[in-house]
Parts: sequence; structure tokens; C-alpha cells
Amino acid sequence: MSKRIVVLPADIASKIAAGEVVERPASIVKELMENSIDAGAESISIELERGGCESIKITDDGSGIDTQDVALVFERHATSKINKFEDIYQVSSFGFRGEAMPSIASVARVELLTRLKGSKEGTKAIVEAGKVKEITPAGCPEGTQIFISNIFAHIPARKKFLKKEATEQSLCMDAITRLALAYPEIRFRAQVNSKEVFAAPKTDAFNQRIAAVMGMDFSASCIPVSGEKENIKLSGFVSHPEFTRSNSKNIYFYVNRRFIRDNSLIHAVLSAYRQIIPPRRYPAGVFFIELPTQDVDVNVHPAKLEVRFKNSRDVYDLVSQAIARQLAQAASTKGSFVYRLSTKKDESVIGPTRRQQDYADKPASLFRGQMFPSEIFKETPIIADAQKTIMAQDAEDKSGKQITFSGLNYLGQFADTYLVFSGAEGMLLIDQHAAHERIILERLKKTGQQKIVSQQLLMPEIVSLPPQEIALFSGYLELLCEIGLEAEVFGKDALVIKAMPAILSGAQAKEIIMDIADKLKDQNQSSSLQEKKEEIYASLACHAAIKANQILSFDEVAKLCRDLEDTPFNTTCPHGRPISIKFSLSEVERMFKRK
Ligand code: ADP
Ligand code: MG
Repeated sequence: MSKRIVVLPADIASKIAAGEVVERPASIVKELMENSIDAGAESISIELERGGCESIKITDDGSGIDTQDVALVFERHATSKINKFEDIYQVSSFGFRGEAMPSIASVARVELLTRLKGSKEGTKAIVEAGKVKEITPAGCPEGTQIFISNIFAHIPARKKFLKKEATEQSLCMDAITRLALAYPEIRFRAQVNSKEVFAAPKTDAFNQRIAAVMGMDFSASCIPVSGEKENIKLSGFVSHPEFTRSNSKNIYFYVNRRFIRDNSLIHAVLSAYRQIIPPRRYPAGVFFIELPTQDVDVNVHPAKLEVRFKNSRDVYDLVSQAIARQLAQAASTKGSFVYRLSTKKDESVIGPTRRQQDYADKPASLFRGQMFPSEIFKETPIIADAQKTIMAQDAEDKSGKQITFSGLNYLGQFADTYLVFSGAEGMLLIDQHAAHERIILERLKKTGQQKIVSQQLLMPEIVSLPPQEIALFSGYLELLCEIGLEAEVFGKDALVIKAMPAILSGAQAKEIIMDIADKLKDQNQSSSLQEKKEEIYASLACHAAIKANQILSFDEVAKLCRDLEDTPFNTTCPHGRPISIKFSLSEVERMFKRK
């Protein structure tokens, strides 16, 4: 049957268009706050019920809307911000498409209360499913209040896609804090279920706003960056190399005070931190790029989250060079930043740590020879049982065979990171961190549904976090308890940690909490609780494991090897990297051109 072309009825078309702008409660919060900022508000308050899934109320003290114009607010492409197309290359306002209000009104119930500055009376409007139901005079303060309820009530499919309340709330908080960061001259307040969760008073001190949004830890140690190239200006703050996160999501970019996402600029930041922070760790930062409006196109993304620069190469260079310069300068005053991994670890797992200083008077030899009688392994039945297996398997080997050390001699540690073994068939290198990570992960997984053994901290530790991350944690406290981490929300911007999994030491609480926040936040990852739990296990394992650049005693190596033999999946670490690499005798001979 051939299908005919029809023009969609207006209400269907508007719901489709709304999908581009209004994906979830956080998109509503973003659009409404942007309108308040465009209206010149000096104070904006946000009230959410059930994480923004039930209702959203935004109140501002901006210009207000003329009674005559109230009906137009809900008309598609009705805007007070531009008159002709060319204007969009000059706009300094957030809005200009006249799309947000009609889009929101087509997927929710909207109650608008507004009074134009200097006008005697205000106006109230009620819009349901895109239809204006009522416009009446009303008494109200100057400015605008918009109350959104029945969100997605008529679009069950969209409602179904919403995540856990805590996740939606955290996304709303993200939208709020992103805008708050760029507008220190505006006062912001946010409440969830009538409880204040974020307060940022108007301030001239940008540092103060940074602290309110990015958390105390970041603000206390961040390094200012600035630079100029052609007519592009850069200002902002980057994290000290000792403050790292497990993904790049804490790097914020603003172009002419509009928050944007730009992978190439993130790359520019990471390139400046290469060699300064450990691999797979990421800095945090806030960058404000100012350039003439005609040199940037903000009309290339439905939610205006991406922009196109006329000279993107210049912007990239400006960012990477400014950070590199500032880091170099900071390093020259505070000492080198070339990263040194911590040598802290859990003593109960692997015995006492040998401190780096113990070797200070020794010549810096990379290769520490030490004979390792293979009998040490023969004590354990698992090894005796595996006598026939000679060599560990390559990482790519999918045969499921396990590493075994029987018949191997330990030669020593290479670069304080790799354990070197020799056997009849060749040479084996083991990555000590990767190996230990896998051992711990499998132990954690084995405890399965039971609660992981935790250790009460003598002194509860307080970890300060940005408000959007607190919102996230509040939904996962039970899950954390199951993994042995007892935490409670403490005020607006901190968690108090009362107990930690026994495999970790209390001193690492801060880093671990921040890594867990990164894991919980990651929207791309599967969101089933079990999967979240396993991601958290992997992060705990990574923290608890012996580090690279750590000198191990003979006994520590022996214990590690025994534990590794007992561990399933012992050929790759939890991130999929190989634990061991084998050089067969014939490979080595080929390298020496003996064959
Ligand atoms: P845009 O922001 O692209 O102009 P919107 O649909 O977001 O379109 O809003 C439509 C119009 O409604 C705006 O152009 C503005 O005139 C008016 N408006 C919306 N919210 C407010 C507010 N909080 N204060 C003053 N005017 C507002
Ligand atoms: Mg708008």
C-alpha cells in the first residue's frame, strides 16, 4: 500500500518540535532560567518537586511581560529578542527562536504570573496541552513566576524515559549551577521539596561563585588562567594537578556566557595536562571564552549546546597554550607537577609498604634483581595442581586459561611497576596494579548480594561536593551502604562518611566519593542498579590496589602471585587492559636476530 503524504496537525507537530527542546525536566529548568536572565533578573529562585518530575516553579524579578503580549508568549516563533534573521548573528540573549515556551506548554501545564516593571497590575495565564485556557488580571510582584506541572502527562513514552528521581534532580541541579557559574551578579536559590539545596548570593568575587558551584575542594586549589588571541579572550580556572576526576565532565566551557559542549576544546585542556596527571584521570576547569558575536554561530544545535567558531583553531590554541603556560608557571613556584602516584595502600591485603625514601640512598637502578625460588608457589595446592600449565596467557587469549606462576623465577621489578619472571619458555611481565585491581574486583563481586564488610571511621569524614552531586548521592545512599560505604547528606554541600569498605583506608574517602559521583552521573552507562554497583566495585578496586611506581617486597610479590592464580579472569584488568605480557624465547631470539 502506498502511503500518502499529509501535513501533521498543529498539536502533533508542536509535540514533535518540543522533543528537541524539552527532553526532560532539566531542559525546562534551563529554558525558563535563560528567559529570566534575558529579562534582566537579579534574583532567580527555582523550586522543584520530586526532582522536577512533579513540578517546577521559577520566580524572577526581571522585566515582566506586558499584558498585551502574554498570549503571544505561547505562540511558536514569537520572541521579543530579534526582528530579522540577520539579528541572530548579533544576539547576546540566550533566546531568539521563540520556541521554548510553546514547546514546554505543549508537554505540560503552565501557569504564568507576570507584572511588567512599573505597571500597576499583573496578568495570569493558564495553558494546558498547548491551549491557552485563561488570561486574567492578577495581583503579583513585578517580574515573572512560571509554574510547570503535569510534565509529560500526555506523552507517556517520554515520561517512561525519565530516570530515577535523584538523577533527574541532579540534571536539574546541573542546569541551575551551569547558569549560576556564569552569572555571579545574579542571586540564585534552589529548593527541592521545600528544602533549600543551593544558595548563591549575588557577588563581585567570582571565587565565591566558583566555590558555591564547583565545591570547596576545587575552589581552594584551582589555578587562574587567562589569555588573548586576535579578538578572542579567555579567562577561567583549572584544577591543581593534585585534584583529578575520573572523567572529563567537570570541564565547563562558556562562550559569551553560554554553556557549551565541545570535544575539541576538552581535548585542548587534556593536552595541557598530559604528563602532569596520571593516565585516565582528568582535570576540572571553568573557561569563559569571549568573542565578537559574528565570529560564532550559536544556531547549530536544538538546545544551543554546541556552537560553531569561525576560527576554531585559534580558540583551541588559545585554550591549550594558556593552560600550559599557567601550569608551568605554577609549577615553577610550587615545585614540579610531574605526577607522583601515591604509595598508600591497604596493609591488610599486601603487607606493610616500603617507603620510597628507604631507597633514597641507593643508586637509581630500574631493575632490581632478586631471585624468587619457584618453590614459594608450590606450597599452595592450586599451583601444584596446575604444574602442567607453564606460562601465563596473552591478554587476547580467549581460551579462558588462567595465569599460573609455577616453574617461573621472579627476577625483579622493572620501573617499580612491572614484575619480571623467567621460565623455560620465555619471559613474563606482570603489571602489578592491573593484577591487584582484578584480584580485588573479583573478591568484591564474590561477596555478591551480601553487604560488603565495612569499617567504621573513628572520626567521620566530611567530603564537600558540588550541589548537583549531592542531589545524585541522595538517591543512592542505600546502594552505597550495600557496598560498605555509610554516608549521609550533611547540609547543602557535603556528605559525611561514617564507614568505608574495609578494603579501603579512610584517608581515601574524598577521592573515592568523587569517583563514585562520576560513575553515578554517567548517563551513557547502563543505569541498572547491579551494573552501577559493578562500576563502583571497579572504582573501589582501582583505589585499593597497589599502585604503579610502588616498590614491592619479595613477600608482597609472592602474595600477589598466589592471589592472582586464585582469581578468575586473571588475564585482563577491569578496564580490559592486559595483566601480563609474555615474550617467548623464540620471540626474544628473533629480536636478537639469532633466528
Ligand atoms: P525566546 O526566549 O527564544 O524569545 P521563549 O519561548 O523562551 O522564546 O519566550 C518567548 C517570549 O516570552 C520571550 O521572547 C520573552 O519576551 C517572553 N518571556 C518568557 N519568559 C520571560 C520572563 N521570565 N520574563 C520576561 N519575559 C519572558
Ligand atoms: Mg527562551
